[in-house]
Amino acid sequence: MSSQVFHTTVTKPKASAKDGKGIFMTVEKDGKVYTNVIDAITGAAVGSLGWGDTDIQEAMAEAAKHHTYSFPGCIVSTAAEELSKFYIDQCPKGAFKSALWTCSGSESNENALKIVRQYQLERGRPEKLKIISREASYHGFTLGAMSIGGGPRGVPFEDIMIDQKNVCLKMPMFYPYRRMKDGETLEQYAQRLLDSLEQLIIENDPNTVSMVIVESMSGSSIGTPVPPKNYLKGIRDICNKYDLIFMVDEVMCGTGRINDGKLCCWENFLAPEDAPDIQSVGKTLGSGYVTIAGVLVGPKIYNAFAEGSGVIVGAQTYHSHDFNCRVALAVQQKVLKQNLTANVFKMGNLMGDKLQKALVDSKIVGDVRGLGGFWTLELVKDKSTKEIFQPSLKIGSRFANAALEHKVNLMGLTGGNTTGETWDIAVLGPSFIITEKDVELLCERIVETVKDFTKALET
Ligand code: PLP
Repeated sequence: MSSQVFHTTVTKPKASAKDGKGIFMTVEKDGKVYTNVIDAITGAAVGSLGWGDTDIQEAMAEAAKHHTYSFPGCIVSTAAEELSKFYIDQCPKGAFKSALWTCSGSESNENALKIVRQYQLERGRPEKLKIISREASYHGFTLGAMSIGGGPRGVPFEDIMIDQKNVCLKMPMFYPYRRMKDGETLEQYAQRLLDSLEQLIIENDPNTVSMVIVESMSGSSIGTPVPPKNYLKGIRDICNKYDLIFMVDEVMCGTGRINDGKLCCWENFLAPEDAPDIQSVGKTLGSGYVTIAGVLVGPKIYNAFAEGSGVIVGAQTYHSHDFNCRVALAVQQKVLKQNLTANVFKMGNLMGDKLQKALVDSKIVGDVRGLGGFWTLELVKDKSTKEIFQPSLKIGSRFANAALEHKVNLMGLTGGNTTGETWDIAVLGPSFIITEKDVELLCERIVETVKDFTKALET
């Protein structure tokens, strides 16, 4: 059957979600209906509150009653103001002064790139132009976001992206499972990466470098390796030393997914005074009920605008959209009231711990890594040598199909960089409402999936 939704598979549908309640969903694939599927990835680490949340349904009805659209270039929605205050108040004191609400993570990163560019112009430093991001990183699918992304997905578009040779520079990814040397500690490995970042800046003339952007913890590119404390701190220090903007992308890892009772993932690794200068957020912000994401702006950038033109170039029609902001505020209020970030941190760590133990002897699970509500299984052909599966086998997506047979929805993919290296990962990002009983059942189903998948590969 062909699909009339023009999407990633264009003509061949993968699977379609029919309904959902809590952490469970109903999925249809090739004419077969799967009920009570545990949604272990909530879309793409989006659905913090799970599906069919009646409080949010009511909040949506209420928001619809009062909704008044206003063009953000002229009149700002009060809901946007309230959401900004609510969110910023929950971040470390003084970290952020202002928020721009967009409709997607890609758009947030796109806007952040422009804000930082304008910041350099406001301070009379037009020569500060270059942007450093990580090899194999993912920051979204719009052209600016792809320009700072580092995977093979951008290759077909290189000619129309931001200059990949002179403006968008790449530093090595943080990927200890494959890149740490024998005998090296995690901190030493991180230091090696920091040294190479500093080298890259020096070689490219620090006066021409504008910013460094990383995910606080990567998600869909290499799957949730946990950095040691010296890594992000080292990037912050390098940015201070060379007068660069330090940006974190927390579209996937942030807004409560990986912090024990708090919103920002970077707080696991950085003191409040080392806060990033600018940060993108998304996904769990609206829990998938509305299409909302954002850019949080710290005092350094905010003050440059306040003392300069005071104007950000780029009022888009649906920025700070009233309905989206009202619903996102209701989502965030519920998450805070029920302390759900603490719950997902605890339950996620329990899930990771159980999977690490249960899969220790698996031939094909080379690594189980993660923190809080964000975990990854790395799938390998040979665990002792970490040999990869041939990328043409598309093991990642086949594993996701196998998981669906065991009533688990997870994100399976074959990642890669632009030099031809590949890897297969299965990413888990459950809803914040997951319980201990759910974790038990989910882990049982994943272990069964691994067993059956291993057997199928052997035959
Ligand atoms: N940045 C990161 C780290 C992401 O994981 C994603 C999406 O997966 C994006 C940006 C893009 O967000 P969106 O799909 O909402 O445009």
